[in-house]
Amino acid sequence: MIFFYLKGPFHEFLAKKRLEGKIIGFVPTMGALHQGHISLINAAKQSCDLVVCSIFVNPTQFNNLQDLEKYPRTLDSDSKMLEQAGCDVLFAPEVSEMYTAKELELKALGQEDKSWMEGKNVSFGTLDKVMEGAQRPGHFNGVAQVVSKLFRIVRPHKAFFGQKDFQQLAIIKSMVNQLLINVEIIPCPILREPDGLAMSSRNVRLTPEQRKIVPAISQLLFKIKELQATHSPAQLKTIVSEQFARQTEMKLAYFEIVDGETLTSVNDFNQHKEVVACIAVEIGSLRLIDNVVLK
Ligand code: AMP
Repeated sequence: MIFFYLKGPFHEFLAKKRLEGKIIGFVPTMGALHQGHISLINAAKQSCDLVVCSIFVNPTQFNNLQDLEKYPRTLDSDSKMLEQAGCDVLFAPEVSEMYTAKELELKALGQEDKSWMEGKNVSFGTLDKVMEGAQRPGHFNGVAQVVSKLFRIVRPHKAFFGQKDFQQLAIIKSMVNQLLINVEIIPCPILREPDGLAMSSRNVRLTPEQRKIVPAISQLLFKIKELQATHSPAQLKTIVSEQFARQTEMKLAYFEIVDGETLTSVNDFNQHKEVVACIAVEIGSLRLIDNVVLK
């Protein structure tokens, strides 16, 4: 595996591969890799000639400085995992390679830098206003900002994203469509621990006690999926809020049943082609998200 941390030599390397006609697959991550990330690498390997993974803890998508500082950084073990998985290239740039001082200043002032829109009036409609978007101001602007930069650097043919971050996936698809970026976005299924907990880099920060409790989140989602055939969205929401009202360790940030494409709230299953139940839960200072496709 070849490791780049500077754009210049990375550009040169990729230009050569493109000339050779290689199909470039791209897996953007923030590191602290687990099998969920590796499943994206595997998916990329299946349909691409060259697999590029990026590891970059993106400061502009954090709306909580403490969360950014505490985000696990494990580059050594990450690169070993990628090597073992057969990833061809790791790009792990410094913040100064990705952002100008001006862009970082705007972030520090709490302002959203929209220059990634390249002068176009990109609008996400409901996509960035609900769920994570409503509760984490500026988060999706930071995601779009960094992913558009990474797409410009890597210029992949295909990019692989986990359905674990369902809303993020919808935002990326919308951004690519509106900016006419020539990349195929490939959604990949959620990888779970044996007890159902969705794998996440943040899971390592759970205390042993919290780790015992959190599988209840996915178990509840699976139960909701079962009940979907006989209950309305409103009834399912009541079941979830009652469940959380009964326990004190975890706090429900939201539970939403949304249209899989527009992310608007679903009142009647029959009126939608794809429906997804999305949940966010706070436990201590951690925030965990998960989702399940209901229809
Ligand atoms: P992150 O490092 O958390 O930014 O995630 C990088 C990519 O891995 C994103 O596309 C995530 O959706 C994906 N991902 C994270 N956790 C999982 C998981 N449990 N299963 C599948 N994909 C995942």
